[in-house]
Amino acid sequence: MSPFTYQNGVLCAEQVPLTAIAQQFGSPTYVYSKAALMHNFSSYADACKRNGRDASSSLVCYSVKSNSNLAVLNVLAKMGSGFDIVSGGELLRVLAAGGDPRKVIFSGVGKSREDMALALSHEILCFNVESIPELHRLNEVAGAVGKTARISLRVNPNVDAKTHPYISTGLKENKFGVAYEDALATYRVAASLPHIEVSGIDCHIGSQLLDDAPLLEALDKLIELIDTLDAEGIVLHHLDIGGGIGITYDTDQPVAVGDYLDRLFAKVDAWRKARHQDKPIKVMFEPGRSIVGNAGVLLTEVLYLKHGAAKNFAIVDAAMNDLMRPAMYEAWHGVQTVTQRTTAALNYDVVGPVCESGDWLARSRDLAIEQGDLLAIMSAGAYGMTMSSNYNTRGRAAEVMVDGAQVFEIRQREKPQDLFALESMLA
Ligand SMILES: *Cc1c(COP(=O)(O)O)cnc(C)c1O
Repeated sequence: MSPFTYQNGVLCAEQVPLTAIAQQFGSPTYVYSKAALMHNFSSYADACKRNGRDASSSLVCYSVKSNSNLAVLNVLAKMGSGFDIVSGGELLRVLAAGGDPRKVIFSGVGKSREDMALALSHEILCFNVESIPELHRLNEVAGAVGKTARISLRVNPNVDAKTHPYISTGLKENKFGVAYEDALATYRVAASLPHIEVSGIDCHIGSQLLDDAPLLEALDKLIELIDTLDAEGIVLHHLDIGGGIGITYDTDQPVAVGDYLDRLFAKVDAWRKARHQDKPIKVMFEPGRSIVGNAGVLLTEVLYLKHGAAKNFAIVDAAMNDLMRPAMYEAWHGVQTVTQRTTAALNYDVVGPVCESGDWLARSRDLAIEQGDLLAIMSAGAYGMTMSSNYNTRGRAAEVMVDGAQVFEIRQREKPQDLFALESMLA
């Protein structure tokens, strides 16, 4: 389902014309659809239910880094979502948004002592540990604050996610996770530490995966390891397969989330039946992009048109600091005119005002536009606002969420004076 459709020739978010949003909140503005967010989360939750799982035997931990706005987190928390965080700051956001810390898992290769202590004080569900030195540090911090840290090891199953090298994380040469060959020895270390409780296993092999075959291959590798550990008396209670399911940006056809989960649960069920007397294991997911990516657009205004001999440029008021993905990954985002014109289209590069040649949002698009028109940069809900910066002392965009015919401002546009409020000159 797309919540962004033309009604009477104007692109709308649910029932609200984007022209009205630009008028009220200005541009650039990120616009999210609550219905899309809920629909996308439900595709995970419903598949868990359909496969006989309840809250004790499955957990969807939304990946906060994909879009960490409090309103987004709050909508998901109310639906029972858990959260996958990568910093103490993200934990504070989850708490501020009403999320349950007992449904929080903490990922990332470089957790600080302070972040570990904060997470322990809120008794989060699990730390996804990525190295032996991190295990020792966590043991030490947990001991100092008189707590026990539940952990899973992020194991690197060495499968090829067949995605962009910058967002592929499950191969040997990546910085993430414990090598598959070292996992057993690392679990033995974990099991020997007094303030560590071995709880599960996890992996995350990459992002924007269109096919679930690499994920099911990773699952097979995790299952093998769980059985090996079991034989040694190290019993795991959960299995976390990570996130990574892709979305449609252009012509991409990602696997349906429900179909992927049906296949995954079928494999898990067959395995538990054959080798664990049907004893359940909690299955967890860490989706980000597939929940929020297509639930958002970046609304921007055409400032100027520059028609040249070699190229035409549409200079818009959004830039690489607002949406970094094109500059960073050469990512493709759809561009739609908010009001449809009947005049002839010209071929444009859509670029921002930032002083970098890498500041482009879309290249070589046929658009029928005039100065002052509004454009929607599509599929911008994930890794859009969260990766934005203040480069060129540009305040971050406003964010709004649409719910039916209502619009809520969920983050104010940053004011330039706020951007240097923490700075000072020499005495
Ligand atoms: C980024 C990340 C995710 C989410 O990935 P998506 O591709 O957005 O689903 C999940 N788990 C970990 C550990 C991550 O770093």
